[in-house]
Amino acid sequence: MPVRRFLISLLTLFLLASSVSANAGELTLEEVRRVFPTAQSITLLNGKVPAYAVRGERGQLGFAFTTGELAPISAYSGKPINTVVGLGEDGLIKGVEILHHEEPILVIGVSDDDLNTFIAQFVGKKTTDRVRVGAHRRAGYVGIDGITGATITTMVLTSSVNKAVRSVAEAYGIPRGRSPAMPGFGPAPGAEPQESAFEEVPAWQLLWEDRAIELGVILLALLLLMAILFFQDLLVEHTVLFHRLRVVYLLFTVFFIGFYCSAQLSVINLLAFFHSLTGGFSWDTLLIEPIVFVLWAFVAISILLWGRGVYCGWLCPFGAAQDLISKLANRLGFEGYRLPQMVHERLWAIKYLILIALVGLSLDSMVNAARLAEVEPFKTTFILRFAREPEFVIYAVALLAVSAINSKFYCKYLCPLGAGLSFVTRFRIFDWLRRRRECGKPCQACAHQCQIAAIKPTGEIIDNECHYCLECQVTYWDDGRCPPLVEKRKKREDKERRKAEAVIASDA
Ligand code: SF4
Ligand code: SF4
Repeated sequence: MPVRRFLISLLTLFLLASSVSANAGELTLEEVRRVFPTAQSITLLNGKVPAYAVRGERGQLGFAFTTGELAPISAYSGKPINTVVGLGEDGLIKGVEILHHEEPILVIGVSDDDLNTFIAQFVGKKTTDRVRVGAHRRAGYVGIDGITGATITTMVLTSSVNKAVRSVAEAYGIPRGRSPAMPGFGPAPGAEPQESAFEEVPAWQLLWEDRAIELGVILLALLLLMAILFFQDLLVEHTVLFHRLRVVYLLFTVFFIGFYCSAQLSVINLLAFFHSLTGGFSWDTLLIEPIVFVLWAFVAISILLWGRGVYCGWLCPFGAAQDLISKLANRLGFEGYRLPQMVHERLWAIKYLILIALVGLSLDSMVNAARLAEVEPFKTTFILRFAREPEFVIYAVALLAVSAINSKFYCKYLCPLGAGLSFVTRFRIFDWLRRRRECGKPCQACAHQCQIAAIKPTGEIIDNECHYCLECQVTYWDDGRCPPLVEKRKKREDKERRKAEAVIASDA
């Protein structure tokens, strides 16, 4: 099967790519000077934990080490962020500097100033401090400010620094001791024992506690969506109720999931997931954004049961925004314009080509993939809320505006996430979208109403493209709109009228 072959090849390429990795632990004097500007020499220590002893003109300055080697936690890109950390003999962090990363948000979206301000917060923290992003009000923690839109990146970076600092501090007896690893470093014979390590609570656990209310709301919304899907046949018969419910749900998706929770899924999540499978999968990274995790878990299940349409039609904030704009335009009397079927089908290919290009680029570097992933207007819209360079804002607004003329234009032709989800749709189990013998032969009523144009002229629904909006199901059950039903109703009414006339005639 071509799709299966494609997926296997994809995984193989990821595996091959992951086998090429640089040594994240080696440091040069130049790199060490970024955290110890007065360093004169560095010596690699022979202890269990790899670190460099750093000396200045007046003697020991402290220790330098990399998080890439001591705490390689996969970040948003699926790859660890490598930083050099300088830890003084007094047990205080002297500096943290990024050596290498492939984080999309740090490439495009976050300014150098924001990044430097964030990193500067580590300076002066103690080895025993429990440093956490946003944990200002949590007893026992030292809170630092995150960067808007870069939650995973900043959390992972903080966890890596904490973990690396702690392992070096414990191994070399910082802040009070001298080590046998190298004269002048580490715990001195007879020194006091190191403070016992405190119980480490994973960063994701704190976030799940912090976002308990939002999680509750999302879980209720997902339950409601399940109920809608299970009772879809009953619901779509009540046209007004169904349409109102759908508009409310789409508003919820845009404003709560999109703007409030910033939980728009992205093709970068998919690429990062595959990279993390081959380069250090970590549940900690996966769980660090609770709402995103729950949504992906739901997508994984719903896609196998009903296809990608459940996410695209109900839970994707950008999809929902386009849908609402298109509905509003319709209300205001805009007819909308559909491309000819042949052009429409040819244009579908664009999103698959973008996806393939993204996969290829990500094998070399997630940074380059992130640049191309800017084809997704999601970061501009829901994470940075249009507060970025004008070209990105114009692009996102234009895609939203074009939906007024051609519904969900971006979804149909450009979205690489939708393309990625389409592949898995082929394995879906249920087919609950009803069709009649007359669909397409000759009836085209549903096909004309389908905003995605996901119904072939021959009547079949194209599962890979369908957004599960259920509009064709509304028509299917409507004896005022579905021509075969209209015909049946008319025959029934005729029969009843003739019967009534016969009764009147016999009474007379
Ligand atoms: S195609 Fe892309 S933008 Fe459209 S609904 Fe699906 S994931 Fe969202
Ligand atoms: S109208 Fe029917 S075929 Fe078209 S997107 Fe909606 S559910 Fe899918």
